[in-house]
Amino acid sequence: MEIAIAELKPGANHFEAEEDWQSLELPPVEFPAAITIRSLADLEGRLLTVRHHLLTTAQLTCDRCLRQFSQSIDLDERFIFAIDPRSEYDDDVIVVQSEEQLLPLNQNLREMLLLTLPLQKLCRDDCQGLCPLCGSDLNQAKCDCRLAPDNSLKVALKQLKERS
Ligand SMILES: [Zn+2]
Ligand SMILES: [Zn+2]
Repeated sequence: MEIAIAELKPGANHFEAEEDWQSLELPPVEFPAAITIRSLADLEGRLLTVRHHLLTTAQLTCDRCLRQFSQSIDLDERFIFAIDPRSEYDDDVIVVQSEEQLLPLNQNLREMLLLTLPLQKLCRDDCQGLCPLCGSDLNQAKCDCRLAPDNSLKVALKQLKERS
């Protein structure tokens, strides 16, 4: 997504774009779907406030049961740019060297998407995961190892023997 500062009119400017994992340099496994972006760029003097609304669907692998699942992503974020390299600004203001420049929006969008991925990826909050002994998916069915937690070591040894 590109916005040329020189083409902005004072006040609100609306933009709509569709990007993908390639244009935003995202991992294709997690972001196979199109990414819809609606942006509002508000120009007031030398300050430009850009609000992004971002929609896509991420494909994640559950940390517990290893199944693939989809997660809707619906994000709002605001970035402030100052087209004025000579003045001092707060840390969260992105200084742009000149009006002739394009805004570095793809980098902002990329960071928004990467930061939204949860550290712990769960297909659902109460995912039962895989049995550590026999590997069956405990969301689908309970296995025998689970029925006798006190004997889990014994069962595991028995299963190992049966397998070999
Ligand atoms: Zn799961
Ligand atoms: Zn089991």
